[in-house]
Amino acid sequence: MNLHEYQARDILRRHGIPVPEGEVATTPAAVRAAAVRLGGAVVIKAQVHAGGRGKAGGVKLARTPSEAEAVAGQILGMTIKGLTVQKVLVAPAAEIASESYVGIIVDRETQRPVLMVSAAGGIDIEEVAANTPAQIHRLAIDPRYGLLAHQALRLGFALYPEVAQARAAAGIMQQLAAAVYDVGASLAEINPMITTPAGKVVALDAKIVIDDNELERRPDIAALRDPAAEAPSEARAREAGLTFIKLEGSVGCCVNGAGLAMATMDLVQYYGGEPANFLDIGGSSNPQKVVTALQIITADANVRSILFNIFGGITRCDDVANGIVQATAEFPLEVPIVIRLTGTNEREAVAILTKAGFAALTDMDQAVQQAVHAAQGKGRAA
Ligand code: GDP
Ligand code: MN
Repeated sequence: MNLHEYQARDILRRHGIPVPEGEVATTPAAVRAAAVRLGGAVVIKAQVHAGGRGKAGGVKLARTPSEAEAVAGQILGMTIKGLTVQKVLVAPAAEIASESYVGIIVDRETQRPVLMVSAAGGIDIEEVAANTPAQIHRLAIDPRYGLLAHQALRLGFALYPEVAQARAAAGIMQQLAAAVYDVGASLAEINPMITTPAGKVVALDAKIVIDDNELERRPDIAALRDPAAEAPSEARAREAGLTFIKLEGSVGCCVNGAGLAMATMDLVQYYGGEPANFLDIGGSSNPQKVVTALQIITADANVRSILFNIFGGITRCDDVANGIVQATAEFPLEVPIVIRLTGTNEREAVAILTKAGFAALTDMDQAVQQAVHAAQGKGRAA
């Protein structure tokens, strides 16, 4: 679950990290009032679940309350990476002497939270990783001991030669590590962590992603969810009990099982296509789940073909087939569909699909290739 910056800032502040105060507002008039209360120059920041807001024009400085109101008028309602800005954060504008990056990500390879820091802050860390990887310092945190003071201090010196700043940065790293464990974050980033002209080290941006598996035991964190800010397709899928992640490609994927869904995405890439989504319809797919899945996939205008890849175990192929027939009767598909299913009740499924005029494949490679070609407009789906 993604948090807004203002929510992430609250969490960091609770853990002792220096974060400038701020107010959330939803109208230009409220931004003006907040600017008056804060006094002086302010920064107005779009609150959407996306990075790169600065580049997209979603982070702007304003010297006066009137300017703040005008800038808020531009930012509220704008779209950043497909998400409409409904809230902004108004905070006193900080003076920046330098920008660095501090982040913790749960890393599969080391099976630990990995602390990453870089003096090349303010820009996307992916960019730094791609262009100047030597500028990123990494440390896997041992969950038995947490981030130790001497480890943090060493990384503090990787950012700042000055002792007081290195110490301050090290303190922030330890507080960030504590926050990650406290809220069950899979990612927590401060980018930029700045130094002010007076030499203070301050967190100017905050991004936290909560591991969904934590939400059950942390209702207070679960309550931070802002459904209005989520991609509508993802919110809808969650309500329907589907695991769905929207991606940028054109091959809509409907698969049962997370492993097969990932293998399917890999194969789509292997044959030159781009998946439009990750979708796991789960173990016991009743036809209604399939209908919802197809509605969600077809609502994405980027989708040029739809690929079903079902390995029937607990999932019954005939249930999925019935779902496809039911869905396409309710709303005719405008893009080609390629169906691969094998396993439990495969024969029944093929009969249902054939009767409804669909072809059913059993070979995964063949199905993926057809779906990729169809998405590229090179060939017809079966
Ligand atoms: P992001 O682009 O979504 O990561 O949003 P950030 O909060 O990181 O802001 C982007 C950039 O705007 C930062 O790297 C800063 O350079 C700049 N910025 C943000 N807040 C302030 C501020 O208070 N004062 C100044 N001078 N620049 C700011
Ligand atoms: Mn940032």
